[in-house]
Order: sequence, then structure tokens, then C-alpha cells
Amino acid sequence: MAELSVTCPVCGNDLHADHEDDLAHNFRDHAAEHDMEMTEEEAKKKVKMMLESKS
Ligand SMILES: [Zn+2]
Repeated sequence: MAELSVTCPVCGNDLHADHEDDLAHNFRDHAAEHDMEMTEEEAKKKVKMMLESKS
């Protein structure tokens, strides 16, 4: 599978992962650094939306 990436809407950092689930996990961890709390499920939805809006 190709590497996936999303850009953090807060700081503009790029987050990378091989799988959508991993990316969602990374995004959730990263968002916590900005005091953005979200569930794993919410993180998955957001990552999915960001991936779809890119292509
Ligand atoms: Zn960030």
C-alpha cells in the first residue's frame, strides 16, 4: 500500500503512515499535543475526510 499522509490543520505538519488506521492513530496522538481531544473513531473520520479531499 502506498504511504498515506495528512497535513495537520493546526500547525501544518505532515503526518505519514502506511495504513489509514495507523494514520488516524498518529493524527489523534498529534492532535492531543494541540489539546484537541478526540476519540479513535472521530480521528478515523477526520483522516478519511482529509484523504478524500486531497485527491
Ligand atoms: Zn499539529
